[in-house]
Amino acid sequence: MTISGAEAGTSEAASTTSSPIPSGFDGLGLSPEILKAVVDTGYTTPTPIQAQGIPIVLERRDLIGIAQTGTGKTASFTLPMIEMLARGRAKARMPRALVLEPTRELADQVAESFNRYSKYSKLSHALLIGGVSMDDQTRKLDRGVDVLIATPGRLLDHFERGRLMLSQVNILVIDEADRMLDMGFIPDVERICKLLPFTRQTLFYSATMPPEIQRLTDQFLHNPTRVEVSRPATTAANITQELVEIPANDWAKREALRRLIREAEPTLNNAIVFCNRKRDVDVVAKSLTKHGFDAAPIHGDLDQSLRTKTLDRFRAGELKILVASDVAARGLDVPAVSHIFNFDVPIHADDYVHRIGRTGRAGRSGKAFMLASSRD
Ligand code: AMP
Repeated sequence: MTISGAEAGTSEAASTTSSPIPSGFDGLGLSPEILKAVVDTGYTTPTPIQAQGIPIVLERRDLIGIAQTGTGKTASFTLPMIEMLARGRAKARMPRALVLEPTRELADQVAESFNRYSKYSKLSHALLIGGVSMDDQTRKLDRGVDVLIATPGRLLDHFERGRLMLSQVNILVIDEADRMLDMGFIPDVERICKLLPFTRQTLFYSATMPPEIQRLTDQFLHNPTRVEVSRPATTAANITQELVEIPANDWAKREALRRLIREAEPTLNNAIVFCNRKRDVDVVAKSLTKHGFDAAPIHGDLDQSLRTKTLDRFRAGELKILVASDVAARGLDVPAVSHIFNFDVPIHADDYVHRIGRTGRAGRSGKAFMLASSRD
């Protein structure tokens, strides 16, 4: 199974050293500064994508990682990237590495991960995402950053205004490529690839490889090594999944949701309610609040600062119920969600797997409910 399998790590890379450095990370080719940062996060064993991917990246080879969120793939590219960049220096407006993410939230999480692992290496980054002021981002670019973490649109925006040069980017990461495809970002990604030096290293991650994605890797990667760590359509064994039959009307659905949440109360630590449409995310969040539940919405049309604030509150345990759309929720790093409520039956099986993958993490047990009428 994808999520728990990833967290179980791999035994292949384990060694018998008694040093304070986590044995499983020893021998991957990472320097003491980075290993120390890894120790600080508490990881002891690399996940399969890390054990297999890190040595390949350090050999400066192109890589196709077939891996979902939850497999530890962020660290699998962030750690060796920090290692490779540690030897050089940032120059004004000339970043040396670029990470492309489909959503602002994912970009945020990569930035957090970068901060965590680079704390003993003197490297800087800028986050170029939509919905926040361009001026702050420009000031950072002017001072010089090693790494850009960006959504494609905002990156091109800065480039077109002449605020940055891409001629020194020698590491490119394209993350969640299939999600980029869903969101219509592939033309932007292609444009960006063409703006970068031909000799760069490209690290490419996708949970699935539809033909459009395959074409992209054929065109822009050189002799890549493929690492596959998960199968897309399976779910974790420690998640209890329940189908709840309801009448096909909106009011009855919301009533059923309230009943399920109330029944779950004794073991409900925090929950995500998924809706298929942004409009319903708002309606459901509002209705839950009106009925006295501690709930807030998150979807792509909401203001960025509000989304960040909501997510921070949820992570900190100050908000109990997050009502979300798939795009907003995919890849969110929210550990230990006890309950998932599928207010709507997801349209794609993959989305179902991603949704309920928010619970049952790291060996904890989780519960997932799906509301469905005979029409569904
Ligand atoms: P990702 O797939 O990069 O989104 O990572 C999923 C989660 O796994 C994140 O919460 C990471 O902090 C965590 N993680 C990454 N690498 C490891 C590891 N080697 N051991 C334990 N947890 C990890």
